Amino acid sequence: MTEKRAKNRQTNRAPPAGVRADSPDQTAGGLSDDEIAAPPTSAELAEIERLAGGPSRRFDAMICDIDGCIVPESAEPFDIGAIRGIADHNRAAIKTGELPVLTLCSGRPQPFVEAVCRLVGNTLLPCIAENGVWLYFPSTNEYQRDPTITRDHIQAVREASDWVEAELFPRGFSIQPGKTASISLFHPDPGQLAPAMPEIQEAFRKEGWPLRVSRTWYYINCDLDHISKATGLDWLIASSGLNPDRLAGFGDTESDLAIAQRVKYFACPPRHEDSVGRVAHHISPYWQAWAVLDVLERVLAE
Ligand SMILES: [Mg+2]
Repeated sequence: MTEKRAKNRQTNRAPPAGVRADSPDQTAGGLSDDEIAAPPTSAELAEIERLAGGPSRRFDAMICDIDGCIVPESAEPFDIGAIRGIADHNRAAIKTGELPVLTLCSGRPQPFVEAVCRLVGNTLLPCIAENGVWLYFPSTNEYQRDPTITRDHIQAVREASDWVEAELFPRGFSIQPGKTASISLFHPDPGQLAPAMPEIQEAFRKEGWPLRVSRTWYYINCDLDHISKATGLDWLIASSGLNPDRLAGFGDTESDLAIAQRVKYFACPPRHEDSVGRVAHHISPYWQAWAVLDVLERVLAE
């Protein structure tokens, strides 16, 4: 790098007060047209590479829960307008490399997560499905089950499902279709969920089924003890080479604390569990996918 170029670089990085970095004044360091038009040296190229995606993009990705965040956990219709906004954002992010890409971390079955992944225009980063059981890779259309899940684990889930069917179906519970290594229980009266949890936990303990019992707004989730959003996130981050210092997150219930613990900046929607609100850097005033879009496009850019 010539002395004149070095001087020009310094001028570019620290323009005088009141002068925009892209104003013609930045070339006032005395370089001729030829010098300005000269191709960058290999050292300059290396520096450009190093800075690419740096100051202009504080976050590389936002990892986002689905239920209660992008879509309602209930059967309400999706807000297609807001989802379209996220898809437009993701297309621009993937095309330019200058914006964070939104990907998903959900307890929903893989087909549901794949559908939402495609709706939000994420063609790049893997999504977590079934609370860490699956990673779905939109770039190749592959789905991988956590390799630590054994045939014995699957057998335990089947036996537990049979117990649920025998004991809880007569009381109005049903199993959410589509899960493969976990069980989600639904009841049309959400008030029935919490009282049933101790009985379920006791049955799993007695039978030796290695399942953890937790709940969201409208479901009881029974997940393998060693599988969670936390294990899914560690798998996603490692497989994609993401840097946690450059990650943002968004979630609304207890299981999303795993997202908060692995990202630099965490936000939540207006309806959230207390434990989630306590760790959030930002609580959005907007509803559902509009909150996600606002954080993605405005809050993370501030
Ligand atoms: Mg949720």
